[in-house]
Amino acid sequence: METTKKIRLATVWLSGCSGCHMSFLDQDERLIELAKKVQLVYSPLVDIKTFPEDVDITIIEGAVGNEEQLNLLKQVRMRTKVLVALGDCAVTGNVTALRNALNNSAKSVLERAYVETADMNSQIPIDVPKLLEQACPLHEIVKVDYYIPGCPPPADLINYVLTELLSRKTPSMEGRFKYG
Ligand code: SF4
Repeated sequence: METTKKIRLATVWLSGCSGCHMSFLDQDERLIELAKKVQLVYSPLVDIKTFPEDVDITIIEGAVGNEEQLNLLKQVRMRTKVLVALGDCAVTGNVTALRNALNNSAKSVLERAYVETADMNSQIPIDVPKLLEQACPLHEIVKVDYYIPGCPPPADLINYVLTELLSRKTPSMEGRFKYG
């Protein structure tokens, strides 16, 4: 019996509030239809630690706020045919990029969070990923194939985009990096 190969789908959570993933889940019973066509190979919704090779579609929530996320995004782009920016933080920077208006953005944010507002033991932690000076949307780092705006994007819109993507061939893997 001939079996249809499932689309390998990943979802990634960078600097966002998880509201976009909640909206993804709000597709409700349409997720059952989706599950018939895709294999979820990486996601905060499942316990997989390493981003896999050869992913067909990756949906990313959140802006790029630290070096760990920057490296993950580059790895995701190398291993993904179609990259989708999900929500305004991924598309424009949105809430995550509000700190960019501060002078010394990374230093100011850390001091505000861990020193100025601390009731006791104020200290900037050293065992956390290094903040980028400016939080930025995905397309400033890598090539983005599709954008789903909204804060969060409506579940209907997410479902529409996914349905369209699943019904067509994926684009070429060339030219995926915008910057080194
Ligand atoms: Fe949260 Fe809105 Fe950003 Fe999505 S776009 S991560 S809902 S703040």
